[in-house]
Order: sequence, then C-alpha cells, then structure tokens
Amino acid sequence: MTDLRGIGMTSQRTRLRLIERLKAQGISDERVLQAMTDTPRHLFVDEALAHRAYEDTALPIGFNQTLSQPYIVARMTELALLSGRPKRLLELGTGSGYQSAVLSNIAEEVYSVERIKPLLDKARVRLRKLKARNVRCKHGDGFEGWEEFAPFDVILGAAAPETVPERLLSQLAPGGVLLLPVGGDSQKLVRIQLGDEGFEETIIEDVFFVPMLEGLQR
Ligand code: SAH
Repeated sequence: MTDLRGIGMTSQRTRLRLIERLKAQGISDERVLQAMTDTPRHLFVDEALAHRAYEDTALPIGFNQTLSQPYIVARMTELALLSGRPKRLLELGTGSGYQSAVLSNIAEEVYSVERIKPLLDKARVRLRKLKARNVRCKHGDGFEGWEEFAPFDVILGAAAPETVPERLLSQLAPGGVLLLPVGGDSQKLVRIQLGDEGFEETIIEDVFFVPMLEGLQR
C-alpha cells in the first residue's frame, strides 16, 4: 500500500513482528490481522517517534493525547466484526487517524469525530494520502454522535466517558453494537448490542483510555 523503502526501522519485518505479537495476545481474526499489516502505523506519529511505531505501546500525538496501543486497536476491530462486516461505523476520537485507517479496511463507510481541530486536520491529510476514501471526518463532540449519518452498525469509542451516553445508544441500528471504554480511574471496555429485546451489555476487559471530554477545542 505505502512505500516503506528507505525507512529501516519500519521494515516489513518489524511490522510482521508486531502481527506475531498480536496473535500471541489472542487476536485471531484474519481480516483484522490483515488490516493491521496493511496500515502503516509509522505514518501516524511524528517522524521522531516513527522508529517506535511497531512497538505494542501507546504513543504521544500532542495535545495530551495518544495513539492507541496496537493490541487495543486490533481487539476493538475484532469486536466490531463480531456481527459481520459493518456497513456504517462511527468512531469517536479520530486522534491521529490510525484507527480510522485500520477500520476503513473492515467497514464499508467510516465516520469519525474529533474534538481537537489541529489533530483532526493532520489526520485528514494522512487519511487522504493513504487513499482511505471511505472515511469521513468532522470536528465535533463525540458525546453527540453524528446524527446526520445515523443509525450505525457499530459505534466505537477511542476515549472514555464516565458513563454510557444515551445519545449514542439512540444512534444504533437494530442489531448494532456500541464498543466503548467506560469509567474514570478504573475503566472497562463494554459492548452494548441493540437486540430484539433491547440493549444487552457485556463487559470485555479492563482498559486504559484518555477521557472523553465535552466541547470542542480549536
Ligand atoms: N483512535 C485514535 C486514538 C486517539 S486518543 C488513534 O488511533 O490515534 C482519543 C482521541 O479522542 C483524542 O484525540 C481526543 O481528543 C478525542 N476525544 C476525546 N473526547 C472526545 C469527544 N467528546 N469527541 C470527540 N473526540 C474526543
């Protein structure tokens, strides 16, 4: 997909080592492993950090925010596929755009909302460069979802609110799934599906995300 020649530390081999590590951590969905293989994470961090892009750690992207750890991106992507390939997927917290790029491989249409304008602007440039044409981004507040394109088959949060926002639940399609880290100091990743009998909640695992904050930053 992208030309990696000349970037020693971000060689194919380094990338494949990350994929092996993800497999060892229990990621088994081939579509996810392929999407992670195809997405050049080093293009989503500053050049000074590019050599660390294929370590399984969160990395700073400025404005006190981080690019999520590859394991959690893979895990959430896998969970997003549990009910089949999503047609419309909403991501809350575009950040660097890395996860949006991964998700663009598994969903037909990706919608992504970010509250910090300069981060969004950078993410847009990267996504355009990678020709991720099925990703649409906007400067907005994730607590409000994205009414215009609702309902969604999957809503996936990259930042943690203290409690589950009702507004988001109302934008789920029948059978749709909300994947969200919830809580303050101690967070859980929850999966809430809109089934025939209403919302069904499953707690997946302990996680650590940046907080979901209200309002926009210019
Ligand atoms: N998936 C991103 C992770 C970014 S970290 C990546 O791959 O890089 C989480 C992001 O959520 C941050 O950029 C933060 O600014 C954003 N965020 C926090 N609260 C938000 C809100 N209410 N609406 C939209 N974005 C929000």
